[in-house]
Amino acid sequence: MTGVQTVEQLRTVLKEKFYDVMIFKPNQSFEGFISNISNQLKEIMGVKLSKIYLLNESTQHYQLFSTQSDYPVKKVAYTAQEFEKLIQENGTDYPNGDDLFFKPVSCTSTVLIPLHMEKENDGFILFLLDEETPYHHSFFNETVEQTSKIIQKMNEYFQSINEETKYERLYQVTSKFYSTMNIEDVLREVIRTLKDLYTKLDFHLLLTQDNLQIEDLPINELPYDKHEKDAGTTAFLTGQIQFEDMSDHISSLYAPLVGRQGTYGVLQVLKPKHLFFQENDIEFISILAKTAGNALENAQLHQQSRRHITDLQLINQSSQTLNSKQTLSDTFSYLEDLMMSTFKAEEVGFILYDEKQQDWNKYRVLNESTSFFFTEEGEWFLSFLNKKIEQKVYTIFIGDFNNNDADMDIPYKSVMAVPMIHDEKVIGLVMVLHPNEYFFSFETYKLLQSLVQHSALTVVNYRLKEELEQLVRTDYLTKLYSRNYLDKMMNKHLEVGKQGTFLLIDIDNFKQINDEYGHDVGDEIICQVAEIIRANIRSHDVAARWGGEELAIYLPNTTMVLGQHVAERLVKTVSEKTQPKVTISCGVSYWGEKFHGKSKSLFLRADQALYIAKKQGKNRVVKQTEIII
Ligand code: GH3
Ligand code: MG
Ligand code: MG
Repeated sequence: MTGVQTVEQLRTVLKEKFYDVMIFKPNQSFEGFISNISNQLKEIMGVKLSKIYLLNESTQHYQLFSTQSDYPVKKVAYTAQEFEKLIQENGTDYPNGDDLFFKPVSCTSTVLIPLHMEKENDGFILFLLDEETPYHHSFFNETVEQTSKIIQKMNEYFQSINEETKYERLYQVTSKFYSTMNIEDVLREVIRTLKDLYTKLDFHLLLTQDNLQIEDLPINELPYDKHEKDAGTTAFLTGQIQFEDMSDHISSLYAPLVGRQGTYGVLQVLKPKHLFFQENDIEFISILAKTAGNALENAQLHQQSRRHITDLQLINQSSQTLNSKQTLSDTFSYLEDLMMSTFKAEEVGFILYDEKQQDWNKYRVLNESTSFFFTEEGEWFLSFLNKKIEQKVYTIFIGDFNNNDADMDIPYKSVMAVPMIHDEKVIGLVMVLHPNEYFFSFETYKLLQSLVQHSALTVVNYRLKEELEQLVRTDYLTKLYSRNYLDKMMNKHLEVGKQGTFLLIDIDNFKQINDEYGHDVGDEIICQVAEIIRANIRSHDVAARWGGEELAIYLPNTTMVLGQHVAERLVKTVSEKTQPKVTISCGVSYWGEKFHGKSKSLFLRADQALYIAKKQGKNRVVKQTEIII
């Protein structure tokens, strides 16, 4: 030991040297300071090597503090047990001190001296002794005393400095967070702060949304796999900080980016293994991660509410438009346009199922569907979807559609299909396709659902309207057309056609039939006559119940002669085929090129002819020419 003879001298030298370390290197880090202290100890004590290990509270490891990376020690950190074991194995050969240990090796001796700063054994000095030099235990005691003191003081000092800068930065980050809605700014500030404070560490943001691309930020996608629970995923799922060894030299800390409502990603901190986090570092990092989480949450909520507003506007506008459409075809044309433009779909298809029987093979592909649905592949695809509907799978949202049928090549990966449901019945299916994988978001799917739900109502309304029209058009008893409909059709034809014949028919002596057989049989007779009429006219002729037991037929583009033939045939057939037997009388009127009147005139003329037929003895046909108008 150079020049030091007594413990008092040693104390003075230690104090002097430590003072130098404190004063003349003002910008050093805590690691740098400890490293300098151990260098001083090496010189003062005249040992071959001097290293200081300090206890890390959060890891419970004794960690080597050294600024040199090529230190000749095997390990940079020991647990208390490992140290104890080391001590026991090496023996406690030092003659006069319970707290001093050394092991004489062939040419060197190792001494581990426990330090006591805040508490016992919260650090160690490791000396490699020179065999030649004699050491006295009181010198070691003095060294421990002075070193412990200076380390404790400096530790307190560095901690307070550290805390101050950290909380200053934290204040900056949080004020940024409260002053801006811009998520990029907040994340950027978080990363910048971490990088400034922890220059030796590397930071990554693992985010769930892959759409978040900010150029100058280290953003990676969170490898979210429920089955493979790596530390990053665990941090994300549990909301707890996780640690993981990445390699021999690197380890990771994962701090979840938690907001008030959920976790939005993970902050990954990569660090060299020989560096250790103190408890307050971890706390600091987790506060920053929470700030980032809250910023992400705010941005997401903001985006969501904006999207909801646009969606609602779209739904509102589209349902208004849908209600204004006159035909089913107009309705679906509009829907097709809407889906192409809103969802950027490549194919849009509509099918309607048979209304009465829920048979999934009985459907109609609407003409408003795009071309794919009319191809062989389209047909295969429809049967695939229909099977799902049959199995009551109503949520069809596929991002990687993969048909196992080798013969069929369906060029679409993204598939959304939503059934139109009304009164718990599936009435149709709307399909939206795109060739790219995972093209549609789940938000889009939900929007499609709302749109389809609204359109289902329109389809049902439209069908009801059709039914109602049909109801109004037909007579309930005979199922012939109503008088009103016949009138409309005749007037229409009077405008566009060239000629036509009108037959007015009245059952003869019908009062008697009613009296004799009752009203029900009377009704039955009317139906029999209606049936005979139906069987004797062409499909474009219009037969109607005129009222009571009177029936009328309009024969478009038919000459008087031909119309008269039809009338004669009817009179004959009714008299032969009705049971109980009845006869009819028939007045016939006609219009040709020179006629410019309305249907009413045709009715009147036929009615007059009918009147004459009755007068002449019934069961006959009388045509208008016999009438003077
Ligand atoms: P005519 O040969 O002169 O026509 O004698 P008619 O007995 O048929 O006399 P009219 O045409 O004046 O009377 C028709 C009767 O038919 C009156 C009514 O009681 C009966 N009637 C009208 N509508 C219906 C109906 O829907 N069902 C039944 N069962 N009877 C009806
Ligand atoms: Mg009558
Ligand atoms: Mg009658």
